[in-house]
Amino acid sequence: MIEENPSNFCIICGNERSEGIRIVNEFICESCEIEMVKTEVQDAKYPFFIHQLKRIWLRKNA
Ligand SMILES: [Zn+2]
Repeated sequence: MIEENPSNFCIICGNERSEGIRIVNEFICESCEIEMVKTEVQDAKYPFFIHQLKRIWLRKNA
């Protein structure tokens, strides 16, 4: 689901973006979403994305 909201701050890069996706109540900007989709498990960036996503789930389950 893609929503437009001018006050969205991306949880991955921390930038404010109008375009992106929401996972639970957290926002991921379009460019980070594209990066994540492109990133393979072997990629050095992959653990970083997983780490950022885990923060969402940990916060929601706390
Ligand atoms: Zn981002």
